[in-house]
Amino acid sequence: MTTPDLGTRLRAWRHHLHRHPETAFAEELTSDYVAGVLTEMGYAVARGIGGTGLVASLTRGTSGRAVGLRADMDGLPIQEVPGRPHGSVHDGRMHACGHDGHLAMVLGAAAVLAEEGGFDGTVRMVLQPAEEPGRGAQAMLDDGLLERFPLDVLYGLHNLPGVPAGHLHTRAGGIMSSEDNFTIVVHGRGGHAARPEVVVDPLVVGAEIVLALQTVVARNVPPVLPAVLSCTGFETDGARNAIPSTVRITGDTRSFDPEVQELLERRIREVSTGIAGAHGARAEVTYTHEFSPTVNDPEVTERAVSAAVAALGADRVDGDCRPDMPSEDFGVFARHVPACFAFLGNGTEPGRGGTPLHSADYDLNDDILEAGVAYYLAVVRAEMPAS
Ligand SMILES: [Zn+2]
Ligand SMILES: [Zn+2]
Repeated sequence: MTTPDLGTRLRAWRHHLHRHPETAFAEELTSDYVAGVLTEMGYAVARGIGGTGLVASLTRGTSGRAVGLRADMDGLPIQEVPGRPHGSVHDGRMHACGHDGHLAMVLGAAAVLAEEGGFDGTVRMVLQPAEEPGRGAQAMLDDGLLERFPLDVLYGLHNLPGVPAGHLHTRAGGIMSSEDNFTIVVHGRGGHAARPEVVVDPLVVGAEIVLALQTVVARNVPPVLPAVLSCTGFETDGARNAIPSTVRITGDTRSFDPEVQELLERRIREVSTGIAGAHGARAEVTYTHEFSPTVNDPEVTERAVSAAVAALGADRVDGDCRPDMPSEDFGVFARHVPACFAFLGNGTEPGRGGTPLHSADYDLNDDILEAGVAYYLAVVRAEMPAS
């Protein structure tokens, strides 16, 4: 096979993957499929890294440098709208985040690099499981990813509906936020709704905690640093005529800075336990880190932007885009390897790339596949120029 039929191959890979979506850590068929394609291209494929994850490596020349291209493999537990020729054949599962397209772009870059070379060093395709729950990157690291497959630099991208098709946006520093979750259980003393004087009403305490938490970002976080604190659930064990004995508040925080992350956690604990204590109740706070912030290395990002401009044209590249508050498992890799994560516009019109991610009628826009490949080829060849 030669590169000229790349467009056809990209679409065939993407449509095959779209038809067979699998959810986090269950990407068995996906992993088999991409491993087969990469082996056929001549890559040395190592399987079972972080469960279903894999690394495919190819060396040309002698520079000793290694560049990674990362894609994610998992779909979502969403029932796809019917009627697409390449629609999901797995009931209740769907590639609603475009990871099928991310994989196809990496396969496309892998194909061209294997066929045409043009680099001096080792290129590694790092294909991770379980991006959606934010667990796959750490699982690969725990399996010795970086010791077994050293990387000097890592690149990744995510398609983004709402941005013109094939436009690349990135920035140095924080590009996607952390996600932390919290649960506050307020223990009071329930009783008859007509006898408030003999109970400790955790509902009133919980309501006060929810309102007081609104001051954390407004009054504690420096205004120049972005942060979000949202309470997302409020459940009691009360009844119409019975004051509850416990209230469970759930919530979610986002930020780009580990210090802000710590500050949010500390203030949630202090505010909750302080307010509960003032009312004779008790608050139990659980705080978990779900996603790291994705922080781009400034030097790698500078090289990424130059490569993107060369590959796509300056009018299609924004090297200082606005950060986005959703989270991305790539951030875990970026804590260990100098890295750059970018957004690739999926289109702006609904039905033609503009439909939001995680919707049942979302689909990756096939017309952006070539742009993703061109960007990846440009970064690999810029990082490891052929002598
Ligand atoms: Zn997603
Ligand atoms: Zn995604």
